[in-house]
Amino acid sequence: MSLSCFDFGERMLTVDEARAAVLELAPRPLGDEWRPLESLHGRVLAQSLVSPIDVPQNTNSAMDGIALAWPETEAARPDSWAQAGEVLAGHRHETPLAPGECVRITTGAPLPAGADTVIMREQIEYQEGRVRVAHPDAVRRGQNVRLAGEDIARGAVALAAGTRLGAAELGLLASLGMAQALVRRRPRVAVFSTGDEVTAPGKPLPAAGIFDANRFSLAGLIAEHGGEVCDLGILPDDRDVMVAALADAAHDADLVMTSGGVSVGEADQVRAALAEVGELGFWKIAIRPGRPLACGRLGAQRTPFFGLPGNPVAAMVTFLQFVAPVLRRLQGCLATEPCRFTALAESDLPSRKGRVDFLRGIFHCDARGQLRVRSTGHQGSGILSSMVAANCLIEIAADCERIAQGDAVTIQPFADICRGMPS
Ligand code: AMP
Ligand code: MG
Repeated sequence: MSLSCFDFGERMLTVDEARAAVLELAPRPLGDEWRPLESLHGRVLAQSLVSPIDVPQNTNSAMDGIALAWPETEAARPDSWAQAGEVLAGHRHETPLAPGECVRITTGAPLPAGADTVIMREQIEYQEGRVRVAHPDAVRRGQNVRLAGEDIARGAVALAAGTRLGAAELGLLASLGMAQALVRRRPRVAVFSTGDEVTAPGKPLPAAGIFDANRFSLAGLIAEHGGEVCDLGILPDDRDVMVAALADAAHDADLVMTSGGVSVGEADQVRAALAEVGELGFWKIAIRPGRPLACGRLGAQRTPFFGLPGNPVAAMVTFLQFVAPVLRRLQGCLATEPCRFTALAESDLPSRKGRVDFLRGIFHCDARGQLRVRSTGHQGSGILSSMVAANCLIEIAADCERIAQGDAVTIQPFADICRGMPS
């Protein structure tokens, strides 16, 4: 059994320990709801979807041409065929084909009974009202025919529970005639920024102020991970205000998240407030950027809580490593881990033994199909432009002192290109 985030006390956790422990905050997925097809994009299936029909429904033509019963042997093959009619997509040819007959057929039209093969239009000739096949030796029985149920057979699982519905999945649902699906409720995520210096964009910037970046980058990440954002604004570095705000947020939200105020500075009140309103879990993880980070539960509802670091890059990196898996778990996703690939480093990369370093990277595929990655440059945890320049995080393991040019490194791509891949 894995340890929960409340079993570690003051000990420094490895990133893997922390990843496993945060999942205990969300022991089970949220409830489910029926939603119409039009609003299913990004939602996660709550039950496996069994196909009520064969897709395609009928054995049909993959080409424009003629459909016929192709004889097994050359001896049985006539020189020419009588055209017994025409069948267009959306229509049926009700009379079965007699030996020696063919029908003109268009792509997608059901094959008449008796037909098993389609010959494309370009390979037939008309002679005195009869149809001749230009290269009979090249014809294979059953060619250019899509079999009923070859995409999905009636009764087969078309999509497994836990699948996130992207564009292709929506098309598939529609192709089964499903106008709705049972999906997980979207997690409601309350997000606060904290800090006396933190100023809402649009307000005048005080002399010692800084504009609030985190609420907006985190809101974007929440949405990208299927959550519904409850933006609760900016809290001052005041413990009483924080206690009241956290207690309030815990009522309505499935997860509460703050940024800033979790280190041991005088003004850092989040941990103290968390201890008062709920249960404080671990807060030291061997990661850079991303220390410190608090997690725990709030109120009688035991709402999962994350106190992310204030530095904008650290807030995003820790969200991706620790909050995203919890959001995936709340939605019942099949995989909770970030998606990873291996790439070759294009230059030496800095790292320190004893902690996992996450550098912002740019990966590409070279002419030989090999993934390569380079650093975006300056890696300070406040340099948000490094996240903008990056298309991945480079994850350097704790036991690794330094990465030399040409070494293999792990990358976590930002884009959703790993959809459906096993982790
Ligand atoms: P803290 O963890 O509160 O000590 O914050 C660490 C650094 O992140 C400080 O330089 C803060 O000013 C900055 N910071 C905290 N919150 C935000 C925010 N919401 N947006 C941008 N920077 C922030
Ligand atoms: Mg602060």
